[in-house]
Amino acid sequence: MPKPQDDPWKWRKCRFCKLPFKPTGKDVGNARRQQFCTAAHQKEYWKRGALPADKFTARIEKQLEKRMREILREQLPGLMLSYLEEHGIPVPGATRLQPPHGI
Ligand SMILES: [Zn+2]
Repeated sequence: MPKPQDDPWKWRKCRFCKLPFKPTGKDVGNARRQQFCTAAHQKEYWKRGALPADKFTARIEKQLEKRMREILREQLPGLMLSYLEEHGIPVPGATRLQPPHGI
């Protein structure tokens, strides 16, 4: 029985930015060897090493905050409406309700 081969296109961590990626190459050998998500990250890694942990954390936090703001912007008007309706507060021009400024 042949030994099961490990998938050369399996997910792995980029050595530079530490984010997971799938190899992009068409060639099996290259796919198995790929350690960086992009050529730019490979270049950066050999220039100045991996991204420092605090920089990496800051980047992830920034992405998280951006996504949370997006979710809030989408959900907040609906949430406010249902809250007002639940408490029997009349909502004039409810269809024109906009999210508060700065979100
Ligand atoms: Zn990367």
